[in-house]
Amino acid sequence: MTTELQNPFELKTDPQSLAADILSALRYRSGKDPTVATPYDWLAASIKAVRDRIIDQWIESTKETYEQDEKRVYYLSLEFLIGRLMRDAFSNMGLMEDMRAALATLGVDIDLIATLEPDAALGNGGLGRLAACFMESMATVGIPAHGYGIRYKNGMFRQEIHDGWQVELPETWLEHGNPWEFERRERAFEIGFGGSVESITDKAGRLERHVWKPQERLLAVAYDTPVVGWRGNRVNTLRLWSGHPVDPILLDAFNAGDHIGALRESNKADALSRVLYPADSSEAGQELRLRQEYFFSAASLQDILQRHISSHGDLSSLPDRVAIHLNDTHPAIAIPELMRLLMDVHGMDFDKAWRLTRGTFAYTNHTLLPEALETWPVQLFERLLPRHMQIIYAINAEFLLEARATGNFNDQQIRRISLIHEEGGRRVRMGNLAFVGSHSVNGVSALHTDLMKETVFADLHRLYPGRINNKTNGITPRRWLFQSNPGLTGLIREAIGDRFMDDAAALKDLDAFADDASFREKFAAVKRANKERLAALTAERLGIRLDPSAMFDIQIKRIHEYKRQLLNIIEAVALYDQIRSHPERDWVPRVKFLGGKAAPSYHNAKLIIKLANDVARVINRDPAVRGLLKVVFMPNYNVSLAEVMIPAADLSEQISTAGMEASGTGNMKFALNGALTIGTLDGANVEIKQCVGDDNIFIFGLAAEEVARHRSQGYEPRQVIERSHELRQALAAISSGVFSPDEPERYRGLIDGLYQHDWFMVAADFDSFAETQRQVDALWRNSPEWHRKAIHNVARVGWFSSDRTIRQYAEEIWGVPV
Ligand SMILES: *Cc1c(COP(=O)(O)O)cnc(C)c1O
Repeated sequence: MTTELQNPFELKTDPQSLAADILSALRYRSGKDPTVATPYDWLAASIKAVRDRIIDQWIESTKETYEQDEKRVYYLSLEFLIGRLMRDAFSNMGLMEDMRAALATLGVDIDLIATLEPDAALGNGGLGRLAACFMESMATVGIPAHGYGIRYKNGMFRQEIHDGWQVELPETWLEHGNPWEFERRERAFEIGFGGSVESITDKAGRLERHVWKPQERLLAVAYDTPVVGWRGNRVNTLRLWSGHPVDPILLDAFNAGDHIGALRESNKADALSRVLYPADSSEAGQELRLRQEYFFSAASLQDILQRHISSHGDLSSLPDRVAIHLNDTHPAIAIPELMRLLMDVHGMDFDKAWRLTRGTFAYTNHTLLPEALETWPVQLFERLLPRHMQIIYAINAEFLLEARATGNFNDQQIRRISLIHEEGGRRVRMGNLAFVGSHSVNGVSALHTDLMKETVFADLHRLYPGRINNKTNGITPRRWLFQSNPGLTGLIREAIGDRFMDDAAALKDLDAFADDASFREKFAAVKRANKERLAALTAERLGIRLDPSAMFDIQIKRIHEYKRQLLNIIEAVALYDQIRSHPERDWVPRVKFLGGKAAPSYHNAKLIIKLANDVARVINRDPAVRGLLKVVFMPNYNVSLAEVMIPAADLSEQISTAGMEASGTGNMKFALNGALTIGTLDGANVEIKQCVGDDNIFIFGLAAEEVARHRSQGYEPRQVIERSHELRQALAAISSGVFSPDEPERYRGLIDGLYQHDWFMVAADFDSFAETQRQVDALWRNSPEWHRKAIHNVARVGWFSSDRTIRQYAEEIWGVPV
């Protein structure tokens, strides 16, 4: 007998063992027998069988981090747009095929139960999806990391289209339970709001420290989800906080017969983690939002400090052992919160606390849109977080002194960098707070980082040169190629082997196959199959029949004026007009897909959705078009829908007003799946162009500095519109009610806006866009050439893997070895 104990928990992964464990999970954890099991029961049992195998790795990863005393990364984000996890986890564990076989022996189709898994939509769009890709890449690259966020009971709303209008319905993703998460009741921290600040003095009357006495208190309870890296390399934790009352029932009120009032605390705590604010790149300035931001930041910091103290004893080493990353300014309140904990709880002086705080935090800026830069009224701040307001004043005094001492800042410039905006109601500027409280501030594409230095943070950049750096966004190839496009993945493996699956840069080897006619044909067949799948989904969901040999032209992303879905729709109207006027011409059949959610309070964005649907209805049923043009608005765009649509795209629409899209990541997903891009020189499009080559992308429109020049030198859209016959006709048709006969005035205001100011340069870019679309048509007619370029796109965008982005963060910001 051996005395050395083997790990008794090591679980087998052959199909027979998996099948046995699925049955056992079904029986002993769900209390079900196969004869009565619903598809949801099979889904839960399958996930649990794999989850048990992940747990071994999870515990191993955690132990290693402790034993080797590795520096930890904490990624704070108010949003994680995760999507479904089953395929991701099975595939990263290398269990996809064995699970398929195991379930088949039980008479269950894995693809069928996969579609039942709810789409975890705890985010709005790109920012939240980036956080999800980063979590997966950090586990893949082997970085000890925790993600911190909020466990919203209702994530992003579900979008339905009623009579062409967006209708928002609550998303109940937790309805059938969540087999991925572990509730950690023992991991609960108290969070305070309001109240007052007391000054404690020593016997001689000198100020010793401040103590915040909050008036309200609640608990943040942790829910953990394991995040598996590629090939199960490492398993990290996504820890989401849920609000719980300290006293679930107020007994005094209850006994006095006030049964509703007795639940007051419970309801208040519940509200904190109830809903995600559905505003993307626009202001969500309500009190509940600030409460959510503080709630999850404060809980995360208590957790981080407790872990640090338990392994290092002392907080002086914090910046050496801990990197805290702020995904946008939403968690920037963590900066004064850490200062408060270091000074008021751990007794440090201001200077030391400030040095440790700056050494620990780094901040990513995601937008230059003025309406999206967070500010909070000083009054609100003082009421909710009185001690933090004092600390912000102290930080402000300190750093403005530093700025004045350089002699390089006049009064006006000092006012601009101040943490407090003084004109017309005093407000706290969260962007400036995040900037001064961090040792690194990064943009998300080369262009965006340059613009940051020239615009929003120009003065702060002068004061702290070197602090701003660029980290161009990325996407995980596991989800956005291997899982979403198994056909293309298989074809690439056949051609160049498996090296690209561990190093996306190795996709480069595919370049040589662009000139191989037989490879091009196989490539085209994969695309065709993906398009047939999307056509089937469109028929099923919308009853619209599509020809998969038509060009699939896709614009899917949040609906926002700067993203210019309106430009795309107007061009479709102009094309419709051309097809009807010149039926003799050789038109390229095209299906124009649009999809995306509008913030419920964003009037113009919702109107643009209605316009897309109105235009679709008229064009799709006009026999004069002979099916040459179809317009389809796909409802409820989310991660799962993206996974079906992107592999089916021939043309990727990335047409934002130059200078306004910080990076984009949708653009990367499309290129990786072999779509050609039509786009402006904005965000990461600029770098995609550099990677794929000028001949393999369609660039149009004004560049960022030209947009700026137009705006500053007086841009007259009316003159531009008068000069363009096609544009004038299309606008007249929309404005006069051709697409809205039931309400002819519906789009008058929207179109008048283009004539009057056209802030987003739709008119200025229209002719260039339309002309470029005709070049796209010309290339489409040359199918070998089209596919040659598409293959070059796949081969040359490996650099946009989020593994590359994360390695850059690790080396250049966090100081973590990779
Ligand atoms: C990638 C992604 C986005 C971001 O798309 P952009 O085109 O970069 O704005 C938004 N939503 C979902 C569901 C995504 O997958």
